[in-house]
Amino acid sequence: AATGGPRAEAVIDLDAVRHNVAHLSGLAARSGAGTMVVVKADGYGHGAAGVARAAMSAGATRLGVATLDEALAVRAAGIDAPLLAWLHLPDEDFAAAVAAGVELSTSSREHLAAVLAGARAAGRPVRLHLKADTGLNRNGCRPEEWPELLDDVASAVAEGTAEVAAVWSHLARADEPGDPSIDAQAERLRAAAAQARDRGFAPLLHLANSAATLTRPDLHLDLVRPGIAAYGLDPIAQPADSPLRPAMTVRGRVALVKTIPAGEGVSYGHEWVAAEPRTLALVPLGYADGVPRRLNNGGRMRVRIGGPDGTIRPVAGRVCMDQFVVDCGPPGRLDVAVGDPVELFGTGAGGGPTAREWADELGTIHYEIVTGMRGRVRRTVH
Ligand code: PLP
Repeated sequence: AATGGPRAEAVIDLDAVRHNVAHLSGLAARSGAGTMVVVKADGYGHGAAGVARAAMSAGATRLGVATLDEALAVRAAGIDAPLLAWLHLPDEDFAAAVAAGVELSTSSREHLAAVLAGARAAGRPVRLHLKADTGLNRNGCRPEEWPELLDDVASAVAEGTAEVAAVWSHLARADEPGDPSIDAQAERLRAAAAQARDRGFAPLLHLANSAATLTRPDLHLDLVRPGIAAYGLDPIAQPADSPLRPAMTVRGRVALVKTIPAGEGVSYGHEWVAAEPRTLALVPLGYADGVPRRLNNGGRMRVRIGGPDGTIRPVAGRVCMDQFVVDCGPPGRLDVAVGDPVELFGTGAGGGPTAREWADELGTIHYEIVTGMRGRVRRTVH
């Protein structure tokens, strides 16, 4: 029988976020470090404002985002926690960000000049997090350009246009504990910070993402900067071995049930053919909603039909733009009805499907799965 509820939803469990942030900030506090929880990309698809509030109530001391728009959205939600934004073009509206009390990262003299112009326009100093490129070779200032950047920062500080809040960097291979690049990057960050101290600055140092927060207490420095772990997705351990609780469960509902005879193919291309009569359930979610089309390759995607105590069943045939089909076995075996809830992924409790499983199947990371849920998936926050 139909159970009601949305046709497709991502249910966000903020209790799980609080649990995860309490765990992470507890680890950081043991090292004397604060915790900047990363809420970029709309809180990794979980809703930035809700996650930000939950994180701050559970021990986070700061928030981090990528873009200025994301930072201003956090402020517009009424959240006044210390907030860093780190990815900009030089022609963005830095005055608005400074006026909103957003701390800004800078990776080059060109960026610094633009940010300082914004601070002058806003009529207040900008708090800078100077980003050193210690080997990721993405954003950040290369060591050979660092002294010149510091010269410009020193002038801006003398002028009263800037304050140095931090020197920071980002790790390339933190999810490969023991990789020598991790210590090499930490060493380069310390060298960059030493040069900043030589100029009289007293920056906080931050480097650790989730993986380093969980595995490298010696690299917690002054602040850790976890993202994915706050959402309960362990960057290293499998869900069953992790202290974290996944916060997103994606659900649909059965739209149609039918039985087909042996020999019939299912979905585009007939990649899946019924070897015997089968009951099929249609779920109205597809790749336009973030269910990867490649997942059905080999029939390895599975869902749970019928609630938390439901039955785990494989997907039959290709995932389409708006829908996919679940193989419910020989007729009569699984009592499946229109309206039944279908869990695509969630906490993994009771052996249920997980975002990690999808990612492993696709050769990607669970970050891409949770940030990719979109389209007609309604977010419900608890
Ligand atoms: N710091 C920076 C600069 C990032 O770009 C990210 C996300 O990729 C994080 C921290 C958080 O990383 P993670 O989600 O692996 O904890």
